[in-house]
This record gives sequence, structure tokens and C-alpha cells, in this order.
Amino acid sequence: MSAQTVTGRHYLTGKTISVSVEEGIISAIEDTEDGEDQWLAPGLIDLQINGYAGVDFQRDGVSAERLREASAGLNRDGCSRWLLTLITDEWSSLMARLRHFKALRDADEDLRKSIVGWHVEGPFLSPEPGYRGAHPPEVMCDPTPENLDELRSITGDDPVLITVASERSTVNPQIPKARELGFVVSIGHSNASSDELKDAVAQGATGFTHLSNGMPQQMDRHDNIVGRVFDTPGLTAGVIPDTIHVSPQMFRMIHKVMPSDAIYYTTDAMSAGGAPPGRYTVGRIELEVGEDQVVRMPGQTNFAGSALSPIDGIRRAAKMLGLSWRDVWDYMSGNAARFMGLPVGLEAGAPADFRVIEEEGDDIRICR
Ligand SMILES: [Zn+2]
Repeated sequence: MSAQTVTGRHYLTGKTISVSVEEGIISAIEDTEDGEDQWLAPGLIDLQINGYAGVDFQRDGVSAERLREASAGLNRDGCSRWLLTLITDEWSSLMARLRHFKALRDADEDLRKSIVGWHVEGPFLSPEPGYRGAHPPEVMCDPTPENLDELRSITGDDPVLITVASERSTVNPQIPKARELGFVVSIGHSNASSDELKDAVAQGATGFTHLSNGMPQQMDRHDNIVGRVFDTPGLTAGVIPDTIHVSPQMFRMIHKVMPSDAIYYTTDAMSAGGAPPGRYTVGRIELEVGEDQVVRMPGQTNFAGSALSPIDGIRRAAKMLGLSWRDVWDYMSGNAARFMGLPVGLEAGAPADFRVIEEEGDDIRICR
């Protein structure tokens, strides 16, 4: 099979390059003199997708067709690789759902390329109001070695991210086993103390899930979870760049305090992601999505997942930081890939899921 070639400017260097693709893999990248007036950037990677394009992954019996619709929606919105995310439920129901999605994904070549792993967010989280977010506290519990073995037996060799709360009694002691099984461990929905966070890092935790979310609106000004994360080296933080879950001011502060390679962006999208305003579900919970794209539990002020699309996250992040889309792109691509140990975007040997992008004034458009 002969190689296909695409030319354009490299999203980081601005140099004109020619990218050769063979059998879905980038076979070579070379500098070239004349190329098309367009940008080439790796596909976006989102480590927290709870649903998309009207499809809710927290429900039982999602069909292969619906899963392909969600994947197509993400692909259209710039995201080529993502972690299918399941949130807190009774452990046996959660594992049954995971087994179902694993079978659907393994049976479909396109889904195998796009669903590059799994994010299990719960049930080992803080039941405290505010910290628990939309997760049901009554089914939260402490992880056992058997839980971790079961999770690994279902997911095979796939990359797995688990979000856990360090203050639960068996969480930190189980982190070495989770690491041995190849899981990436992220703390989140947690009110862990500084000592508990530092111990989690010492045991092998490397992430903090959607920093500045999964916490109450009011917190102690001297000692709160955001400050403790800033004060704990070794954690890479996920951030939702929608201007709503994290205020523009906090968003800029996170970028000032944390090393740039210790931040990745995620939409944390639920079924309303890439879909119009209306009523949607996250499992048994019904949620409202307004014109402002804010996802709310009816009658309550807390946010529950987002309706943000990946490409819109890039636009909003660039605007909040006063930077170009090219400066923030890697937060939702290379950084996310490195954090999960996935192949990094626009390189020889990586999957050919890069995007051709055209600039239109201040805005960008994904052509293909
Ligand atoms: Zn969450």
C-alpha cells in the first residue's frame, strides 16, 4: 500500500512539513519547501468522557451504534482518542457496564482506535457534600485488592485511569498494587490532607482529577484542597477549560503555579457534550443543560459534568490565557498522552489521527 502525503504547517514550530501516512500510521515527517496554507496538529485526547452527543455511558445496554455516534461526535469536535469514563455506582453494576463497553469496543476497529482506555471515577471517593459532586455517596466504598484485580481482568492490557480519594482508609495502601497492575492513579473528589496527598504520591499516585471541581463552593481560606494540591509536587492536574467549572482567574492561577507539563485539559463531557441544550441523564440522575452550556442538577447550583466540546475547550483556554490555540493545543493532546503513557501525536510511528486546521480570523476550523 503506497503512502499518502499531507502538507501544512506544524502546529508548534510553524515550519512547513510533509506527513506521510501508511496503513493508518504516520510513517515519516519531513520538512518541505512548498506546502498547503493550513495547519497540522495531532488529534485531541480527552481522559474523561462520561457520554457525548446525546449518549450516556452511565446507563446499561448502550448499543454499539450509539457508542459509534458518540465517538463520531468527538471525532468531529477534534478529539481522536479518549478514555471512556464510568462514574460511581454499585461496584458490581459498574463492572458489568465496563465489561459491556469493553466488548463493544473490542469488536469494532474504529472504536478500538478512539477508545484508548478507561477511566473509572469512583466509587472510592469522598462522600462529603461538595467533594462528592454528583456521585451517589450511598454506594461509595473502600477499595480491596480483589476490586483492583477484577478491574484489570476486565480491561485486559488497556490503559486505565482510576480516580480515588486518598482520605479513604484503604486507598493509599492500595496504590502500589494499582500501579503494579498498570493503572494510572489520580486523586479526586477528595478532601485529603496535605499528608495524605504526599503519601499518595509516595505510593505512586501521579494525578489530580479536574482540579478546582469536585469540591464545595466555600472552603477554608488557609487550608483547602486546591492549595494542598499546589503544595504537593508530583501531581499532574486535569482542568476543565470551559470558563464555568474553573473561573478564568483560577484557570490562569493554575497555569502560573503548576509546571506546564503537569497540566492537561479535559472536557469531563457528559451526554450533553456536543449536543443542544435540554434534559440529559447521567445514569439515574436527570440533568438540565441551559443555553449557557452549564450542566445542573435541577433546582441545585452544583455542576455535574460539562457540555463542552474538546475543540471549544481549546478556543476557551486560549482566550482565557490570551494565547493562540497552538500554544494550548498540547494540554489536550501531548500532555494528556504523556500522562497516560499513550503515543504522542504528530510523530513518526504515532496513529495518523492528526487534524488539518484552518484559521479564520481569531477562530479555527477543523477541516479534516
Ligand atoms: Zn468528577
